[in-house]
Amino acid sequence: MTEQEDPNRDRLKHHFAQRVIHQARQVLEVWQRLQQSEWSDAELAEANLRLLRYAERFEQAEHAQLAQGIANCLEASTANRGRLTSSLITELNQLMQRLSRTGLRHGDQFEQTFLPPLRKPVYLALQDRERAGRLAQQMEFFGLIAQPFDNTNAFRAAMLERHPAAILMEIDFAGTGLGLQLAAEIQQGLEQKLPLLFFSHEDTDTPTRLAAVRAGGQELFTGSLDASSLLERIEVLTHVAQYEPYRVLIIDDSRAQATHTERVLNSAGIVTHTLVDPIQAMAALAEFQPDLIILDMYMPECNGTELAKVIRHNDRYVSVPIIYLSAEDDLDKQLDAMSEGGDDFLTKPIKPRHLIATVRNRAGRARNLKARMVRDSLTGLYNHTHILQLLEDTSFRARRESQPLTFAMLDIDHFKKVNDTYGHPMGDRVIKSLALFLKQRLRKTDHIGRYGGEEFAVVLPDTDASTARKVLDEIRRRFAEIHYPAQPKDLSCTFSCGIAQLHEGMDINTLSKQADEALYVAKHGGRNRVEIFAD
Ligand code: GH3
Ligand code: MG
Ligand code: MG
Repeated sequence: MTEQEDPNRDRLKHHFAQRVIHQARQVLEVWQRLQQSEWSDAELAEANLRLLRYAERFEQAEHAQLAQGIANCLEASTANRGRLTSSLITELNQLMQRLSRTGLRHGDQFEQTFLPPLRKPVYLALQDRERAGRLAQQMEFFGLIAQPFDNTNAFRAAMLERHPAAILMEIDFAGTGLGLQLAAEIQQGLEQKLPLLFFSHEDTDTPTRLAAVRAGGQELFTGSLDASSLLERIEVLTHVAQYEPYRVLIIDDSRAQATHTERVLNSAGIVTHTLVDPIQAMAALAEFQPDLIILDMYMPECNGTELAKVIRHNDRYVSVPIIYLSAEDDLDKQLDAMSEGGDDFLTKPIKPRHLIATVRNRAGRARNLKARMVRDSLTGLYNHTHILQLLEDTSFRARRESQPLTFAMLDIDHFKKVNDTYGHPMGDRVIKSLALFLKQRLRKTDHIGRYGGEEFAVVLPDTDASTARKVLDEIRRRFAEIHYPAQPKDLSCTFSCGIAQLHEGMDINTLSKQADEALYVAKHGGRNRVEIFAD
């Protein structure tokens, strides 16, 4: 037998690829942790070295290349007396983003490329085997792996082997109230608690609910259990936000002071940009897009408070936090400055830890606020305005890099009937579940928006129309298979989709109009289908 024909060889290769992926996840976890607490590159270097070795040994070229890149960045930082610079942080972050996308891309099967990477299973400990099987299947439609158990021994053994992304435990699993005990026992031994959800077939009383909380449960579902509400909770509980380093614009006429501030912030993994000439501020804001501004109080050409007013005049920067940094210790003057559009006042000399904590705090809150402004409250997807802004940003990049870009519009079929037959809350449920479904099944780099009522829009960078059609058609097919438990009978829904690709000399208005026209064609062709715009 030749090597190619040996099925064991394929299985082995797959097995080793899994190990490389697992190690890549470790690297990403260390990176994310370091961003929020004290920086220690030694830990990152160690995890990365292991990744590099595995990737080379198991011939995973892309992982090896990324790990080598990360190693080079860390070496450059060591050579720079252990100091990170903004460009090194940016480069590291780009490598990490790429690493997080390589996840499952070792097979050449198309479908795998588009599943979210590095997913752990969800353990299902339910009494009713059939219910567990059905639920597991529905969860799979959403791109999640679910593993059902029907006895405590199998469950315990699996826990020893591997920790899941989350646990769904029936209160009476293995006997009345025993599920609670089992869950409590398992959580006790853990350093980091796992997301734990309880389920009870019967409606439960307050003592039981209390017991569930004490056993570490974050949710208690009762009655009928459907995959989409379960997934919604799991999504929230297990969400590891993709970390983007904070960006701070420093405006200070003293180069020495600015360099000092930069060093302190860079050491904490924060990207900085310095401006010694305050007149350039507006251009720098547009170009650098900072999360926060540090402003010197006294500069020869204009003082900090004047500049803050100018910045606040522009709607886009109304909510960017401004921190004044100055030797001024007259409290009245500080207060005056704060009333002129500033958010905080730090007096020089400032302790590095204090500066870092203030910046992280303010920048973090500003980001949360911004996230709420651009998102739709029902689904958490981008709202209409923002998805179009993203389409515009992405189209500039696509043109610059000569990469394809596709825009898709989706609309749920006969949705009015869903509302009329099952009620408005059920309609909302379907909208939320399609939102979740798209989030689970598209790539992290795709942008998903709720365009209006039961209409969605998706921006797919680096994707041509025919590839997008394959992806969306698979999603369409799978979405139609979801059953929502309802009376008098279960509900299932379909959607129609129109696709258009950006071509030379085209603006985004034309692109979205074309996607809309393709959607119209899909509707008139009988719905539940995906169409590409054709002249
Ligand atoms: P078609 O297949 O042609 O798309 O038919 P349709 O019934 O889906 O289309 P139509 O646009 O006529 O109706 C959309 C309905 O969606 C009307 C509106 O009441 C409902 N809808 C819009 N937004 C929401 C929402 O946020 N929640 C719920 N439950 N319903 C909504
Ligand atoms: Mg509609
Ligand atoms: Mg519709």
